[in-house]
Amino acid sequence: MPIDDCNTQWKFVLANSMIWPSLHWFHAMLGHLGSHCMHATLQTRYYHPHFCMHIECFVCDECQHTKTSGPSHRLLQDWNITGAPWEEVAVNLIGPWPVSTPHGIVEFFVLTCIDTTTNLVKIARIFKKSSDHIATCFEHTWLSWYY
Ligand SMILES: [Zn+2]
Repeated sequence: MPIDDCNTQWKFVLANSMIWPSLHWFHAMLGHLGSHCMHATLQTRYYHPHFCMHIECFVCDECQHTKTSGPSHRLLQDWNITGAPWEEVAVNLIGPWPVSTPHGIVEFFVLTCIDTTTNLVKIARIFKKSSDHIATCFEHTWLSWYY
């Protein structure tokens, strides 16, 4: 007997009093599956004479508020390119990012440079937020690589 054949596999029979608590629990634990996937998953190990009807009637309040109907993918929107590559760069300083190491917590600060036309990103660690240091990092990270 193949162990994964749902027609010959021994199953737990869900009592009427357990069907709704079970559906709520499995729906939440399986990542808020839709009715088709939930039925396909549960029927492999559980049995109830009206399993399909209960799953079809099952309504999750959280899914009602957060899921949208219809396909979850769409075509990409048109991208209006208004500039030329290397024409504009967006620069930002971000951090601190605390990271636990065997020697204690180390905080990182980072300089990000993004070409606004191509979305090319360069990132460099910075060690102090002084204009001289940031200018040098920008020169080494961005200007010396691409100009
Ligand atoms: Zn849900």
